[in-house]
Amino acid sequence: MSADLNGALIDAAVRTILDNAAELTALDQAIGDGDHGLNMKRGFEAIAAQKAELEALPLWPAVQKAGMTLVMKVGGASGPLYGSLLMAMGKAEGDAVQRFRAGVEAVKARGKSDVGAKTMLDVLVPVLEALEAQADLGEVAALAAEAMAATKDMKATKGRASFLGERSIGHIDPGARSTQLLVTAVCQHLGEKA
Ligand code: ADP
Ligand code: MG
Repeated sequence: MSADLNGALIDAAVRTILDNAAELTALDQAIGDGDHGLNMKRGFEAIAAQKAELEALPLWPAVQKAGMTLVMKVGGASGPLYGSLLMAMGKAEGDAVQRFRAGVEAVKARGKSDVGAKTMLDVLVPVLEALEAQADLGEVAALAAEAMAATKDMKATKGRASFLGERSIGHIDPGARSTQLLVTAVCQHLGEKA
């Protein structure tokens, strides 16, 4: 894929995180420690700062490098989790969907978690399943939004929100929201390219 695609994809991902950082923080204030917006902002600003280096690489090595940056720059749980997703995608073999499966499996392993625990996996897994079923990009984005909203009624059993037990119910998971934002940005970007 062209360097141009890399650069525009980076811009789209960074923009959605910066535009919505305050909301991510507010969601994390309700059921966590209030740093998710700042964590994501720090991580994606670091990726933005590396844009020239990333653009010089082929797509998948660039994805892997961006993942390493997230692991290094983001203190919270989300940095190593998103970092694992991208590093595993970069290292995997196969097409984009097969690589995404490897990434989601890496998040599960890193987080010792799976669907139903009110985390980013509650968006990542349905998105993966839709991609594997060859849903179109619009359907994938719509499904991500539904899956994100559905975390509201779930009880957290992983991460900081699990400390709240029943009181985590009634709030959208911040990591589910950031995942949905990124999925939507990537789908829109690929849709515009198509
Ligand atoms: P921290 O929880 O360390 O403050 P963040 O606030 O940046 O880190 O990220 C919180 C998000 O990380 C949660 O909303 C959730 O989606 C995700 N998360 C936390 N723990 C796990 C886990 N074990 N597995 C998957 N996702 C997790
Ligand atoms: Mg937090």
